[in-house]
Amino acid sequence: MDHFLYRDGMLHAEDVPLNEIAAAVGTPFYCYSTATLTRHFRLFDEALAGMDHLVCYAMKAASNQAILKTLAGLGAGMDVVSGGEYARARAAGVPGERIVFSGVGKTREEMRAALQGGIRQFNVESEPEMDVLNEVALSLGVVAPITIRVNPDVDAKTHAKIATGKSENKFGIPIGRARQVYAHAAALPGLQVVGIDVHIGSQLTDLQPFRLAYRKVAELTQALRADGHDIRRLDLGGGLGIPYQQGNSAPPLPMEYGAMIREELGHLGCEIEIEPGRLIVGNAGIMVSQVIYVKSGEGRDFLIIDSAMNDLIRPAMYDAHHDIVPVVQPAVGVAQHPYDIVGPVCETGDTFARQRPLPPLQAGDLVAFRSAGAYGAVMASEYNTRPLIPEVLVHGDQFAVIRARPSFDEIINRDTIPQWL
Ligand SMILES: *Cc1c(COP(=O)(O)O)cnc(C)c1O
Repeated sequence: MDHFLYRDGMLHAEDVPLNEIAAAVGTPFYCYSTATLTRHFRLFDEALAGMDHLVCYAMKAASNQAILKTLAGLGAGMDVVSGGEYARARAAGVPGERIVFSGVGKTREEMRAALQGGIRQFNVESEPEMDVLNEVALSLGVVAPITIRVNPDVDAKTHAKIATGKSENKFGIPIGRARQVYAHAAALPGLQVVGIDVHIGSQLTDLQPFRLAYRKVAELTQALRADGHDIRRLDLGGGLGIPYQQGNSAPPLPMEYGAMIREELGHLGCEIEIEPGRLIVGNAGIMVSQVIYVKSGEGRDFLIIDSAMNDLIRPAMYDAHHDIVPVVQPAVGVAQHPYDIVGPVCETGDTFARQRPLPPLQAGDLVAFRSAGAYGAVMASEYNTRPLIPEVLVHGDQFAVIRARPSFDEIINRDTIPQWL
């Protein structure tokens, strides 16, 4: 459920009509709903009620500080994957004790910054990383709390580019080698083992792969405890999918996910961490753009809109589907017309949808891409020197620009010309 609904013939974000935001900030723009963010965070928090737990929002899905502050205010921790994300979370007021650091390629500088600024744990992904973290911690005279990310070799049954839990993926250590790697960690004085980490992929629409992975984690917990390790925390990753297409079968709910976690892991007495990104912010955000031209081609009509693959890359990169709806509510029973919806960038990949039925649209009309909150603004680029589009946060009947559109000068003046030119 989200808070983008038609009211009085106009698509609203909570209590704000989207045409008003478009008039104020121009198009295209991203728009997020505080009520939806809040609702989704609470669903996860409530799903784990009764177990000691922390929901660490995977901020790579959408990392604007206003979003981070909204979630942190509800009690969220953060899952970060870079030094930049760590700094951003701290700037948004998230304390180090609520930040977990994931990722296969953490550098010494990133480790140092997190150890000095405060960190809940590093999710270590390899033995070379473990050795380097040990060295960095010792050089600072501190001990780094760690989990080790295990790769359970399960098929997440999701898009190949976002599956991470098969043995051929680059993530984590093979679960079959875990006891050996934990023994190595225990021998390093700069590290303190606090648990196990697993994350098998993104946009999972079935609980079974999670269940298989968590069952393996439960067995491993007992084996590692028998080896003398203090396994008190299980980080179960993120990855629960969202419905991108109305009418398609809906993925499992956070409540069902939580119940499964309790079934598989509840008996271990561990603190549970989860790292949802997409499910918290995906349906809490939309992208609004304007039709520039309607171009009639040979047997097909193109809607050329003012947003492009650089603003929302998911269709070009993952063949992702986004529902696209007119901002002005179509009249009941109006005949639909198939359009190819494309952006202005000079690449054929700059196509958002083919032969998509929509009510007849004209130049100047506004359309909204639903479910664009996750992996939308954060993956945007300035390809074609198209400015990053603004982000807007709605809260009831208020809205605020939470990242402004840069001017051409701001973009161009980032270049520096060498003295020989
Ligand atoms: C991307 C990622 C997540 C979040 O995945 P979602 O599908 O957005 O929930 C969580 N943990 C790790 C380690 C990730 O890489």
